[in-house]
Amino acid sequence: LSPVPSDIEISRGQTPKAVDVLAKEIGLLADEIEIYGQSKAKVRLSLLERLKDQADGKYVLVAGITPTPLGEGKSTVTIGLVQALTAHLHVNSFACLRQPSQGPTFGVKGGAAGGGYAQVIPMEEFNLHLTGDIHAITAANNLLAAAIDARILHESTQTDKALFNRLVPLVNGVRAFSGIQLNRLKKLGINKTDPSTLTEEEMTRFARLDIDPSTITWQRVLDTNDRFLRKITIGQAKTEKGFFRQAQFDIAVASEIMAVLALTDGLEDMKNRLRRMVVASDKKGQPVTAEDLGVTGALTVLMKDAIKPTLMQTLEGTPVFVHAGPFANIAHGNSSVLADKIALKLVGGEGFVVTEAGFGADIGMEKFFNIKCRASGLVPNVVVLVATVRALKMHGGGPSVAAGIPLKKEYTEENLQLVADGCCNLKKQIQIAQLFGVPVVVALNVFKSDTRAEIDLVCELAKRAGAFDAVPCHHWSVGGRGSVDLARAVREAANQGSHFGFLYDVQLPIVEKIRTIAQKVYGAQDIELSPEAQSKIERYTQQGFGNLPICMAKTHLSLSHEPEKKGVPTGFILPISDVRASIGAGFIYPLVGTMSTMPGLPTRPCFYDIDLDTETEQVKGLF
Ligand code: ADP
Repeated sequence: LSPVPSDIEISRGQTPKAVDVLAKEIGLLADEIEIYGQSKAKVRLSLLERLKDQADGKYVLVAGITPTPLGEGKSTVTIGLVQALTAHLHVNSFACLRQPSQGPTFGVKGGAAGGGYAQVIPMEEFNLHLTGDIHAITAANNLLAAAIDARILHESTQTDKALFNRLVPLVNGVRAFSGIQLNRLKKLGINKTDPSTLTEEEMTRFARLDIDPSTITWQRVLDTNDRFLRKITIGQAKTEKGFFRQAQFDIAVASEIMAVLALTDGLEDMKNRLRRMVVASDKKGQPVTAEDLGVTGALTVLMKDAIKPTLMQTLEGTPVFVHAGPFANIAHGNSSVLADKIALKLVGGEGFVVTEAGFGADIGMEKFFNIKCRASGLVPNVVVLVATVRALKMHGGGPSVAAGIPLKKEYTEENLQLVADGCCNLKKQIQIAQLFGVPVVVALNVFKSDTRAEIDLVCELAKRAGAFDAVPCHHWSVGGRGSVDLARAVREAANQGSHFGFLYDVQLPIVEKIRTIAQKVYGAQDIELSPEAQSKIERYTQQGFGNLPICMAKTHLSLSHEPEKKGVPTGFILPISDVRASIGAGFIYPLVGTMSTMPGLPTRPCFYDIDLDTETEQVKGLF
């Protein structure tokens, strides 16, 4: 339709096929799905075993240039591309997307189901609770947080003997260790299985974690942009006996458990990752883990359904997995390894799996390659780099762009100079993809104000910058048929063969890995470590965690650490203010400049427009 109706009107205008019908179409057996409502189903991991001899499809990553705060349409391009591949070129394909956080949905950016005629439907189910995975993550994260503070309190108020007796329960009148406790004993070098044989010294060592409260890195989380939780004091009630301390909430999608979910390849692996999560150091400087707190089993139970990807569909009835949703700036920004692995089997050797990495290629794509592909062992065939005339004009010196503020005339009228100047950012992001040896197809996501000359100019400059191809896409206004050229270009690029390689060796010292990303990807002259960052790096190296990949927490609005610096900033020194470790997820997590791990709400958040029609039970105002 023209003009294009709102996202939610389009979504509602299409009746999704029943999810069991979709599941059958893509070759799933009846006992491999767990249906939630009418249009969502979780898919059982047993599928991977059944299809283990099936060839994998081609693996395509959608990334972008440095975006405006409005987003440049990566999700929309991802959906448009699979709609074009499956519904128009009749090639099996699957889209794998992140589950959106309620932070942006109710905050600034709105939903993440794509948009226009390239969407996942029903978009309100996609954007709201889906199948509850983020709630499960929040529950698991906060159970562990509660366990830490409670344990410190209990250790302070009980004798060694009382503590030991409480921790090791009576089974049929005899004290017996649980499996988790036996693991802890092994870690402590105590090779005994009968609690009655432990010496006093062994009992003390077993029972006391001796957590140093000043080293606690495990934070509570919530999936809401609640800035007043960025710094809080906990434990102020009398019952906590003066054990108050400063703490903070992070947004749930930045939590380590979200990253564990996204990077795991099965239940056993997830349990081991949860087990390894480090929450603090003890008073001797040794790491304290979730396993030490006895909580591994409970966390695994809370996460047992979340580990299964959720099957949904596009507006044109093609399959989509929605699974895991780490933010790309303060987390690793990619949907799950499991969804990609299952989808690659389901589409078969001739098919395509299209997955999306958050924000610009410098952030989401770099982490896709160095973290996600390292964890999964999967090799990407093509990068689709999404650009818009709007963002290129901003990089060329156009006025700033913000949500809720009408675009200035530079953006609504033809301006070839701004486009040409802004293509420096596109060129740089193409070069970043090429550092990894993967062919790049530029997808110019066309907006109705873009002129023919502007579109041609971007495609021409993209090819000159080394892109395998560059094509305008019209999926937002007309659906999959508007992305058929992109689909053809991607198919051709996939036949070129990729020479994929990682950017750095994980065995390099932490500082060297950070410097490599800063210089080669962001274009920094060097890095500068705060004393805090320096001492954390020393601690993590000493504790044996020096050989993990790096997950930079950096603004997505610039290649540098300063959001207002557009285009391709050079000569800057990248400040590393702090370094954290996600040992279960398997990465070291440096904070660049002042990065907040809990977003705030603007004056007029998206929730102003969201309402429920109580007669029809329809959600209104989501976009
Ligand atoms: P990203 O994934 O890069 O953050 P999205 O695909 O979520 O971006 O798109 C951001 C917003 O822009 C969505 O609301 C979407 O509907 C809108 N949008 C995307 N492409 C177009 C287009 N070509 N014309 C108009 N609006 C668009």
